[in-house]
Amino acid sequence: LESWLDEARIVARSLADAAAGALDPTIRLGVTGLSRAGKTVFLTALVQALTSGGRLPAFRAYAQGRVAGARLAPQPDDAVPRFEVERHLGALLASDRAWPESTNRISELRVVVDFESRGFFSSSRPGRKLTLDIVDYPGEWLLDLALLSQDFRTWSRRTVETSNGTTRAPIAEPWRAHLATVDPLAKENESVAREAAARFTAYLRAGRADRVALSTLPPGRFLMPGDMEGSPALTFAPLALPAEGDAPSGSIWAMMERRYEAYRSHIVKPFFRDHFSRLDRQVVLVDALAALNAGPEAVADLETALSDVLQAFRHGQNSWLSSLFRPRVDRLLFAATKADHLHHTSHDRLEAILRRLVGRAIERAEFGGATVDVVALAAVRATREATVRQGRDELPVIVGVPEVGEGSGGQHFDGEEEIAVFPGDLPTDPEVALRSGGYRGRTVSEADGDIRFVKFRPPKIVAAGGPAQLPHIRLDRTLEFLIGDALA
Ligand code: GDP
Repeated sequence: LESWLDEARIVARSLADAAAGALDPTIRLGVTGLSRAGKTVFLTALVQALTSGGRLPAFRAYAQGRVAGARLAPQPDDAVPRFEVERHLGALLASDRAWPESTNRISELRVVVDFESRGFFSSSRPGRKLTLDIVDYPGEWLLDLALLSQDFRTWSRRTVETSNGTTRAPIAEPWRAHLATVDPLAKENESVAREAAARFTAYLRAGRADRVALSTLPPGRFLMPGDMEGSPALTFAPLALPAEGDAPSGSIWAMMERRYEAYRSHIVKPFFRDHFSRLDRQVVLVDALAALNAGPEAVADLETALSDVLQAFRHGQNSWLSSLFRPRVDRLLFAATKADHLHHTSHDRLEAILRRLVGRAIERAEFGGATVDVVALAAVRATREATVRQGRDELPVIVGVPEVGEGSGGQHFDGEEEIAVFPGDLPTDPEVALRSGGYRGRTVSEADGDIRFVKFRPPKIVAAGGPAQLPHIRLDRTLEFLIGDALA
């Protein structure tokens, strides 16, 4: 009987272990956004908040004292570069503090969070862990999904058409001028292909400049080549093709078409199959302020990009898509970054604008499936708020140290002196903001300087003994939405 009991005990324990293992959740969280949207800063701040804590009242498990700690652990995928959180944090916290260097490729990091579950009937269970695998990748790659449903002819036609827009036409001009000289039926020629690709890439890149701020510019690897730079699969461009017929063999047309196909099958598909399809949750960072600043065309373009993104996360319906992968993301968060450029009275307004944009994009994409939410955040808050008296008015302002260099109003910033900026109010009605494009702020000291493109230095962090904690706006709410349920 004794040995039978022992046996039973062992079985019971391994069952319990298995159950605990099954109960200990693992979440694969994707972090994406176009270049400069704030991915590197966001992910660094998120990991720092998990491992070092901070003021996180809306992150419930933490606020309730149920998070015992978090630590980095070896990542599961050996072939994916590691997200170098120590280096990025080092840059933010160094004495000559600076924003971390953005990365232009996919990377990964595993964080293990030790927590106590709340349990039923007040029986909390300590010793549990959440394994969080975070995958950071360029949003440009996500927008490539649109290419999978377009053959070379369709893509060429649409790309040329889109380049006629009022914002795009001037920046597309050098490429369009070259395009007009290329006969698609002529014999294939590497130098023509390279020239066309170079000019086309320059056009796409110009679309990302501050004052233009366009969002939909596939193929994504032209802007974010990762380790593919210079390969033939990235050396192609749209052509002005006849409406009918096939590419004659040996022609420029055939050459470009072949490379476009190589791009789709060797670059786009593997990314969706190997990385994207394995995500459980996703945060999409959006520099909505940049689009609002640049005007209505940039905003419209952002909306198109958002519906393309939603398309990728749509569940099931799309047969060619689901044959490639089945999106399994159950929570999707759109986050407007850099909200510290606004006074807090405008944070809700920025959120409302993004909510409206996403809402319209949801209708367009006939999106169903994941729970979607929206937040306006600053992963690292670089400004503080104050009021400045001007005549008889009290102006709400934000105060921060602008980055070294020339301000867009011609001012020179030396890198330590603070400026007060009246950020202007976002309209209360999101529709008005979307139609008119943005807000106009000004520096208080230098009347009417255009502050829309002021970049602030990261904040000076004074660590009071313990680990450094970064100031933020609504990062706690973001954490709650992304992983709060797993820590319940
Ligand atoms: P990525 O290309 O998406 O990885 O973008 P980064 O994370 O490198 O951010 C690009 C730039 O945006 C940074 O260098 C900062 O200038 C700015 N930025 C990002 N996040 C914040 C933020 O929370 N507050 C402020 N003020 N600036 C930010």
